[in-house]
Amino acid sequence: MPKVNYFSGETFPLEMHKVRIIQKLTLLPIEERLRAVEDSGYNTFLLQNQDVFLDMLTDSGVNAMSDRQQAAMLLADDAYAGSATFTRLHAKLTEIFGTKYFLPTHQGRAAEHILCRAFVTEGSIVPCNYHFTTWKAHVTAVGGSVVELLMPAGLEVTSTNPFKGNFDCQALTELVESVGAEKIPYVRMEAGTNLIGGQPFSLANLREVSQTCKKYGIKLILDASLLADNLHFIKNREPEYAQASIAQIALEMAQLCDITYFSARKLGFGRGGGIITNDEEIYKELRSFVPMYEGFLTYGGMSVREMEAITVGLDETLDEDMIDQGPQFISHIVKTLDEAGIPVITPPGGLGAHIDALRFLDHIPQNQYPAAALNSAYFIASGVRGMERGTMSEQREPDGTEPMADMELVRLAVPRRVFTLSQVNYAIDRLMWLYANRRIIGGLKWVEEPEVLRFFYGRLAPITPWQHELVAKFRADFDDSL
Ligand SMILES: *Cc1c(COP(=O)(O)O)cnc(C)c1O
Repeated sequence: MPKVNYFSGETFPLEMHKVRIIQKLTLLPIEERLRAVEDSGYNTFLLQNQDVFLDMLTDSGVNAMSDRQQAAMLLADDAYAGSATFTRLHAKLTEIFGTKYFLPTHQGRAAEHILCRAFVTEGSIVPCNYHFTTWKAHVTAVGGSVVELLMPAGLEVTSTNPFKGNFDCQALTELVESVGAEKIPYVRMEAGTNLIGGQPFSLANLREVSQTCKKYGIKLILDASLLADNLHFIKNREPEYAQASIAQIALEMAQLCDITYFSARKLGFGRGGGIITNDEEIYKELRSFVPMYEGFLTYGGMSVREMEAITVGLDETLDEDMIDQGPQFISHIVKTLDEAGIPVITPPGGLGAHIDALRFLDHIPQNQYPAAALNSAYFIASGVRGMERGTMSEQREPDGTEPMADMELVRLAVPRRVFTLSQVNYAIDRLMWLYANRRIIGGLKWVEEPEVLRFFYGRLAPITPWQHELVAKFRADFDDSL
């Protein structure tokens, strides 16, 4: 994205695309938004999308496609085996990452399934900078355990550290020395670390992890699902790479790793995934899992149309005008909120803006789910759907005790190329109103608590009737506005 100096002295992101297909939105009056929240048990996963104004739940599979992607989809070559579409996607991956082999999968977690089935066994220890939900589930399903070796700065809510996703290599060396390299099937490095606020690692750090892995003969696997943001941050925050092209950085990253996998629901603006490598032995070892779980080797569960869209989307990921849009919108949100005194994770990451509910609602104890309460109150106040990432997203211990989350966050994801700046400014404005009225918000309790993944479909209710007071205050402040 070019640097533009505005006459007004303001700075804000400038989109380098225009909107050519639109979808109409509705913004329900606050009384109906409250009804929608009550119907969904104060859980935004259970809202109907028709009741939502801005859907900031996730950036997975909901990024906008370009005209070039849509055009490419019409040229898809439908064949079970040997499709020209697959050849084009394979060639694009080779061009960008310099890898010879490509195994297609239907989405990111399917790649994780294969990488865990092939390499992880009972008693394996798998180090990572930070876990991701689906990957951890696959590691533990085959009897392995996950060790997080994030640099301590990664879990500080407010920080000026540009690379909070960095791996602690000293800790990795100590782990290998104490348990032995044979217990560690691979090390996993996650780009744009999802669960700690979309925070990147530096290329210098990846190089150090790669050297440590080589020294002990341990494979290094890159989760490149959120690679686009990490590429942007390396170019903009790591002085050594300020002059490098995004394409050069992408190539160097992949070359430092033995295997790279990705969810194309995020990387490449499509829907799908896959595994790439330069190692023939690894390729042959993983290959048999694809026809068994995904589909034949030339589609792996993806539709040919989506594969064409990903091929073009990968090119757009390396487009220096395009790649900045998400991170710049997120930075705009985080900076505006931070200046207004609203507690957010800093520095701004990729993926979305993350509100610190523990400080926003410091009058609500953690066992009354402040992040879930804030998330519902925010939907009532705005029609914007965020995602709870706190204690509600944790699981109870077998004895029924409830662990409190490290961080109590509301995530406002920013799907790429979907929202305009005025929509983002509306989301900011309503959060400011809510902050001014935060003492009205109270806690939540479970009405229906599933044993597994309770945050997806559990139902809650307010402990006191604070929701009605919130609506009354909104009406008093905004008169007849939506
Ligand atoms: C989304 C995501 C995955 C899983 O990908 P799916 O396509 O949703 O299965 C894995 N790793 C990271 C970092 C992700 O953000």
